[in-house]
Amino acid sequence: MATSKMLRFVTVERQTPEKRDAVARKEDFGEIYREFAAERAAEQAGRCSQCGVPYCQSHCPLHNDIPDWLRLVAEGRLQEAYEVSQATNTFPEICGRICPQDRLCEGNCVIEQSGHGTVTIGAVEKYITDTAFEEGWVPRIAPHAEREESVGIIGAGPGGLAAADLLRRAGVQVTVYDRYDRAGGLMTYGIPGFKLEKDVVMRRNDQLAEGGVEFRLNTEVGRDITFDEIRDTHDAVIVATGVYKSRELDGDNHDAGGIVRAIDYLTASNRKSFGDDVPEFDSGELNAEGKRVVVIGGGDTAMDCVRTAIRQGATSVKCLYRRDKANMPGSQREVANAEEEGVEFVWLTAPAGFEAGSAAAMKGGVALGPGAVAEEGEGIATAHRVVSGVTVQRMRLGEPDATGRQAPELIEGADYVEGADLVIKALGFEPEELPTLWSRPELEVTRWGTIKADFRTHETPLDGVYAVGDIVRGASLVVWAIRDGREAAEAILERFGALNRVIAAE
Ligand code: FAD
Ligand code: SF4
Ligand code: SF4
Repeated sequence: MATSKMLRFVTVERQTPEKRDAVARKEDFGEIYREFAAERAAEQAGRCSQCGVPYCQSHCPLHNDIPDWLRLVAEGRLQEAYEVSQATNTFPEICGRICPQDRLCEGNCVIEQSGHGTVTIGAVEKYITDTAFEEGWVPRIAPHAEREESVGIIGAGPGGLAAADLLRRAGVQVTVYDRYDRAGGLMTYGIPGFKLEKDVVMRRNDQLAEGGVEFRLNTEVGRDITFDEIRDTHDAVIVATGVYKSRELDGDNHDAGGIVRAIDYLTASNRKSFGDDVPEFDSGELNAEGKRVVVIGGGDTAMDCVRTAIRQGATSVKCLYRRDKANMPGSQREVANAEEEGVEFVWLTAPAGFEAGSAAAMKGGVALGPGAVAEEGEGIATAHRVVSGVTVQRMRLGEPDATGRQAPELIEGADYVEGADLVIKALGFEPEELPTLWSRPELEVTRWGTIKADFRTHETPLDGVYAVGDIVRGASLVVWAIRDGREAAEAILERFGALNRVIAAE
C-alpha cells in the first residue's frame, strides 16, 4: 500500500551509494561503494511507486518482496524491513552487493520506463541487512527441536550454504563437505574483495557453524572420502560443487610460462587478502605487479581479473574480447568501473597464439631468473619459454548465430602482436566429470556435463541425491544458487515430513 513517503520518483533523483574515487580504490581491495546513510536509504526507497504488479519482484530469482521492504525502509521501520527481506533470501547483503541488478530487479523497475532512474533496490537490500547485523537483529540459528535425519552437502558455495541454512533451522543435522580450507565457494575465493569484502562472507560462515552446521573442510569428495560413503552416512545428499574446469586456448606457445587461468589467479589474490602464505603469488607467477597484463575474455570473471591486476600494480592492463562492447556478456557497470580504474578494452580481437622468449628457467612454477640454467629432474621445467606477447587477430561482427548474437568473423591479414608478461585466460568454466570422478555413472549429466536434476525439487535420478547451483545450471549467479539451495532444502524437508512444521513455526 502506498503512503505519503512513497512515489517520490518524480521529485527525488536516483542515487546509488557514493563510489570511492578511482585513484584511491586502486590502492586496496576494499569495496568500492560506500554505505548508504540512513536518510539517503529512506529517501531512495521512497522513490518506489508500489506497483500492483511489481516487475522488479518477478525478475528477482528469489521473488523478494521488494515493494514491501522498500516501503518499510522509507517509513523508518528497518527491523521489520529486515524480517521481510530475510524471509525469502538467505544472504540479502551479499545479493545486494553482487547481483547484476541491471539485468534482474532494477532492470525491470517500471519507473525507468517513464524516464526516471530505476529504484536502487540492491543498495537498499544490502543496507537493510548490514544494519540488522550492526544492530544485533540477526538472531542465532536455533531450531525449535532437533531432528534425527541428517543431510550431507558437498560444496560450501552459496547453493550448499543456502540449503544448509534452511535445513538446520528445521532441526536437521547438516554436514557440509568442501575441498577448500574456508567455506563460501566462489564468494570466498573467486569474487574479489572490491566487490564483496571477505568478512561479509565469513560472518555468514560463522553464523552457520555457531548454529550447528558441521563443516568438514579440506575434504575433497572423490579423493579424501567417497561419494558412496557420504550417501551411506546421510539420509539425503546435496551436490553443490560448482563448475571449475577452465576453458583453454590453443595456438603457438599456449603452454608457455606466464599464461595462467583466471581461477588460479583470483584464488591466489583472495588468499593473499586473507594473509595466507601463497608461494605462486610471492614468486611472481600469479602476481601482476610491474607487468604488462593481457586478460582474454569478456565476462564478469575477466572484469574481476583486470581490476585485480590494476590493484596489484600492473604497468598496463588490456582486455581482449572478440565481440564489441554492446555484445559483451559482462555487466556494463563492471566495465565502467574497470575503465575508470585504467583498464583498456580492445574490442573485436581474439588471440591466435602467443609469442614466447626463453627468459628464465622455472622450478616448481617459480622463475629462476634470466639466464638461469635448467636441469632435468623433479620439479624442474625443461621448457623455459615465458610469454612475451599475444598474437592478436582482428574481428568484425557478422550475421547473428543460433543464439541471436552476431558471430565474430576474422579479418584476414590484420594480425598484430600485443606485448605481455602475464596473460590471464578468462574464457569461462565447465563442469568437472563428476560421474567418472565419483565412480557413479548413474549420476546423469547433460551434453554440457552439468548434472541432470528436477527443476523444481532438484532431485537427481539417484534416490535422495539432489543437485543445485552451477553444477546444474552451468556458470551462473549467486542468487540462482541460493534459490536452488532453498528449493532443494524444502524438497528434502518435505521428504522428511518436516516442511509443514517449519512453515507453522515461522
Ligand atoms: P561454488 O560457489 O562454485 O561452490 C562450490 C564449492 O564446492 C566450492 O567451495 C568447491 O571447493 C566445492 N567443491 C567442488 N568440488 C568438490 C569436491 N569434489 N569435494 C568437496 N568440495 C568440492 N555471481 C554473481 O551473482 N555476481 C558476481 O559478481 C559474480 N562474480 C563472479 C566472479 C568470478 C570470478 C566467478 C568465477 C564467478 C562469479 N559469479 C558471480 C558466479 C557465482 O560465484 C557462482 O554462480 C556461484 O558461486 C555458484 O554457487 P555454487 O554454490 O553452485 O558453487
Ligand atoms: Fe535484486 Fe538480487 Fe536482491 Fe533479487 S536478490 S532483489 S535480483 S539484488
Ligand atoms: Fe517499486 Fe520499481 Fe518495483 Fe515498481 S518495479 S514496485 S517502482 S521497485
